[in-house]
Amino acid sequence: MPRMIASWFGSPWEWPALRERPRSTTPLGTSCIHCEQQIILGDQGLVLSDAPDSPLHRRCFYAFLFSKPRRDARERGAATTTR
Ligand SMILES: [Zn+2]
Repeated sequence: MPRMIASWFGSPWEWPALRERPRSTTPLGTSCIHCEQQIILGDQGLVLSDAPDSPLHRRCFYAFLFSKPRRDARERGAATTTR
């Protein structure tokens, strides 16, 4: 999971992965990949390596991570039951 993270922004928080990744400037004006709200000054967040132009709020990171595999599994399940 941590290997997906390219960099982070905002004030640092207690998370081991942060020590291994560079801090970037806050991408003001770009939209969060999860909640689609604009990143504003003071936000904390992450930039994923497979979506370098799409930041993610710190608070949205876990929701993003745990919502995605569920959806993928459901799509896979639907595909196998309908064909
Ligand atoms: Zn967000």
